Amino acid sequence: MDAATLEPKMATELDSSQGTHLNAPALVAGLRTYFRSGTTAELSWRRQQLAQLRKMLTENEKRFLDALKSDLNKAPQEGFMTEISAVVGDIDHALKHLKRWVRPRGVSTPIVAQPGKSYILPEPLGVVLIIGAWNYPLQLTLSPLVPAIAAGNCAVVKPSELSPATSALIAELLPRYLDSDAFACVEGAVDETTALLEQRWDHILYTGGGHVGRIVMTAAAKHLTPVTLELGGKSPCIVADDADIEVTARRIAWGKFTNAGQTCIAPDYLLCTRATAERLLPAIEKSVRDMFGENPRESSDYGRIVNERHARRLAAYLEDGEVLWGGEVDPESRYVAPTLIRNAGPETPVMQEEIFGPILPVVELDDFSRVEEFVNEREKPLALYVFTQDQATADRILRRCSSGNACVNDCMMFMAAHDLPFGGVGPSGMGAYHGEHGFKTFSHYKAVMKRKNILDLSVRYAPFSTFKFKLLRWLR
Ligand code: NAD
Repeated sequence: MDAATLEPKMATELDSSQGTHLNAPALVAGLRTYFRSGTTAELSWRRQQLAQLRKMLTENEKRFLDALKSDLNKAPQEGFMTEISAVVGDIDHALKHLKRWVRPRGVSTPIVAQPGKSYILPEPLGVVLIIGAWNYPLQLTLSPLVPAIAAGNCAVVKPSELSPATSALIAELLPRYLDSDAFACVEGAVDETTALLEQRWDHILYTGGGHVGRIVMTAAAKHLTPVTLELGGKSPCIVADDADIEVTARRIAWGKFTNAGQTCIAPDYLLCTRATAERLLPAIEKSVRDMFGENPRESSDYGRIVNERHARRLAAYLEDGEVLWGGEVDPESRYVAPTLIRNAGPETPVMQEEIFGPILPVVELDDFSRVEEFVNEREKPLALYVFTQDQATADRILRRCSSGNACVNDCMMFMAAHDLPFGGVGPSGMGAYHGEHGFKTFSHYKAVMKRKNILDLSVRYAPFSTFKFKLLRWLR
């Protein structure tokens, strides 16, 4: 084993001035040395690493599902669907299309550069940092790793400390399955992340709230490191009067209460007319009962809030409006019932902050035509949902309201389409990943022109003349 092989492993064992056991400079230096060896650029190596990551997930499926249960009380089926199979799907998609993604893409060459050819050559960026969030602790840490590997980079992943079981399992298994000269998992909280952020990276992909997003971007600016920020926001769920109430209610209930509402793209609030609310709200309540029974607390399929602090934060929102149903909170057991509230004023915290929990406020309008104004008076959200059977209504709202992602007549399902970019806009984030968009995020698209030595036109060289000027105009 050579020195470069040892460095990343040693790096997490050494003390540093940060008060952590992380020696971030040594970790990054080791990875950079390995990156420069050229190994990670080999297509066969990338394929092998992706296959190994897949193997890590499938061989340890039960352990990952247990960890997700421990962190968030995720039902095994939900954990499989939204975490394991989401990452496995990303890997399969990357393996299927990698050959095409890495291929140089020819573009036209102007007459002044003939004979010659121009093309775009994707190249890996180098050593990248991926900082994950706790709500989908497996998916949000490993899904970005897939395109980072596919694009030929070395990477450090930093799972969230708020989901400790999943974080520990990733840290245990990653070095056993992946090339540990190229990849490392660093566990930890603010001290460790701060130490990592002080290093020079070739890209940082961060998932989490905007407050830390600003810290990440500030640290990255010091080294001119590009960032992808996957943030959150208040995603509106607009229901028009003509929506199919039964299907709409079921899909909203699923989108809002999966993972106990701790989903960055969950509908944050409902926007509809009073008349629609009268029909929709009982239908959502029925859908919740169908999914989680009379008492969701007893359902093994209903999640828990990540910690007591967040459960108490959510409890405070119940003061902001009239609880229509739900409303039970037990912070000690991290339980917050699926809850619907109405009449929360626009200035209340529940209508100002991202809820990120199983509380759904409904905003009832007298006139449906006000929805666009309501949405546009607020920050650009990560997702926007429109339920309507009228194409023109859907298209008008999609055209007039900006959002990172959008779905008509469903919630969150755009996540299932590998070819759609996933990312925010404005305060809900910048940059995107998933499928080829992720490959692009972790690549530099190098512009290349190859010339022949024949036909070296004198028009561009001094001394200039009237004739050359005329020729230049003609060639342009
Ligand atoms: P979090 O607390 O897990 O923090 C995210 C990451 O930032 C963690 O790895 C954490 O260790 C690190 N971190 C925390 N404080 C830090 C500091 N001071 N300096 C450096 N690093 C620090 O997650 P969160 O912020 O509570 O996540 C919730 C937010 O994330 C919500 O706004 C949600 O919408 C958003 N989110 C977005 C997506 C997306 O894909 N766009 C996905 C999930 C969550």
